[in-house]
Amino acid sequence: MPTSLPPASPEHDGWMIEALAEARQALLTADVPVGAVVVGANGEVLARGHNERELLRDPTAHAEIIALRRAAALLGDWQLAGSTLVVTLEPCVMCAGAILAARVARVVFGAWDDKAGAAGSVYDVLRDRRLNHRVEVLAGVRADESSELLSGFFRGYSQG
Ligand SMILES: [Zn+2]
Repeated sequence: MPTSLPPASPEHDGWMIEALAEARQALLTADVPVGAVVVGANGEVLARGHNERELLRDPTAHAEIIALRRAAALLGDWQLAGSTLVVTLEPCVMCAGAILAARVARVVFGAWDDKAGAAGSVYDVLRDRRLNHRVEVLAGVRADESSELLSGFFRGYSQG
C-alpha cells in the first residue's frame, strides 16, 4: 500500500475528462449525468461507469458502484488496493461505503454535492478515523464542467 500519494496532476485531469465523457452517456437514458473511472495502481484505466439508476431501475446503480464492480470483475479481486476512483461528483454515503469496502487508495472528484456528499461536505466517510480504512481525497478537478452538466440536466427537467 502506498503511504504517500502525489497531489492532483495532469493525469488526474485526463482521467476526469474520461469520467465526464462517461457522465454524458447517462443523459442517453435520462439518468443524472455522473461518471466514474477506476484507475489501477500503475495508472491504467481498469473500468468506467455512469449512473444507470433509471435504465436499470436500480437504486444502487450509481456510477461509482458500477465502475467498482467492473474493476473488481476485471481483476478477479474485490480488493482494489492502490487504485484511484475518479468521479465527476462527490460520492454519496452508499458509494463512500463501497469505496472503503473496495480498499480504494484515493478518490478524485469534480463538483461538491452539498446535499448528499460523503467526502467532506455533509459527511466525510472517506476520512473518518473511526473506520478501518481511509482514502486520500482530491476535490474540485474540473468541477465547473461537472456542475454545468448537472445543472443543465436539472434545468431541462424543470422546463419539462
Ligand atoms: Zn453514490
